[in-house]
Amino acid sequence: MLFRDIIGQEETKEQLRRSVHEGKIPHARLFSGISGIGKLQLALAYAQYLNCPHRTQTDSCGVCPTCLQYAKLQHPDLHFAFPIVKTDAGDTCDAFMEPWREIILNRHYFDLDDWYRALGVETKQGMIYENESAEILRKLSLKPFGDGYKVMIIWQPEKMNASCANKLLKLLEEPPQQTLFVLVTEHPEQLLSTILSRVQRTEIPRLTNEEVAAALSARNVNPSLAKDIARIANGSYLQALKKSEESEDNQQELRDFIALFRDAYTVGVLKDPIKKYESLKRLRQWSLDMADPKVGRERQKHFLQYAQQQVRENYIRNYAQPELNYQLEPEQEFSVKFAPFIHSGNVEQIMAQLDTAERQIEQNGNAKIIFFDLCIQMIVLIKKPKI
Ligand SMILES: [Zn+2]
Repeated sequence: MLFRDIIGQEETKEQLRRSVHEGKIPHARLFSGISGIGKLQLALAYAQYLNCPHRTQTDSCGVCPTCLQYAKLQHPDLHFAFPIVKTDAGDTCDAFMEPWREIILNRHYFDLDDWYRALGVETKQGMIYENESAEILRKLSLKPFGDGYKVMIIWQPEKMNASCANKLLKLLEEPPQQTLFVLVTEHPEQLLSTILSRVQRTEIPRLTNEEVAAALSARNVNPSLAKDIARIANGSYLQALKKSEESEDNQQELRDFIALFRDAYTVGVLKDPIKKYESLKRLRQWSLDMADPKVGRERQKHFLQYAQQQVRENYIRNYAQPELNYQLEPEQEFSVKFAPFIHSGNVEQIMAQLDTAERQIEQNGNAKIIFFDLCIQMIVLIKKPKI
């Protein structure tokens, strides 16, 4: 990983380069900050820069054998520890190096959920097991392959089981020669204070909206959408990326959401009988379209989650500052008129109905009945008075 391939973080990069120039390499560093800002990338770029024999003032050379091995995450002096879910394949990270390299090299930015998904596990109970500490010790006792530093990057060290953490602590107390630990975490507060006191801490800041928007535009996201998404992502490139991947689905879901509530409003609130009748017909068709087996349970469920999120945003919108609003531009446009109809007199019941529908879909209920019933409930609830 080269510094120049990492989005933003110029100050941190400069600080890390300076530590190499001045030869002040602490034996353990901790990078902390929210997910999706490049902590792991910075750890990799720092380790590579430290070890590249032909580094320039600003970056690794990128072409020497060390750099090439680093680029593939296959340098013999580069080691990792990260949470896993033990299988027959083993309970140490070595058994999972292939998906680990793949997710770093293909996705660059990812979080624990993405990693568990890559491992194909549903559970969130991954950890760094006790046996890993023996592996870490073994790897760091090996004679270095080159004349550079041995590097041990520990991703999400708070997932270490207690005895593993205690053994790591011993290592940090008496660190092996020419060894650099880099701990990368979103939750430094969950680490042992004795570990915290033995690492040099660097808080990695959120990215700026401009940096996130520019990075999205570079991936061919339309610049005005990129700007909009960057605002919601709140400094996390990963969140922005996820949002932009979703945004096409989002547009359909927003159309479905608007159709449901516009017609529920017409039937429930307006007086004109012809308009009411037409809207009711449309709602019937809407529920049939939503229930179509081609849509599938997953998308049906996802729509109902999306609808809950939008209802929540519309409710909050009535009270909060606009900058606390996490909606995309087209969603906000609808909310200007819609938000006043979501209030303390109906918000809980609307949320409860959407949640019930979601659970019924999950339990393979009859989708036609579930969605039509939802329409009727929304007609009733949308006209409830404020309390
Ligand atoms: Zn190099």
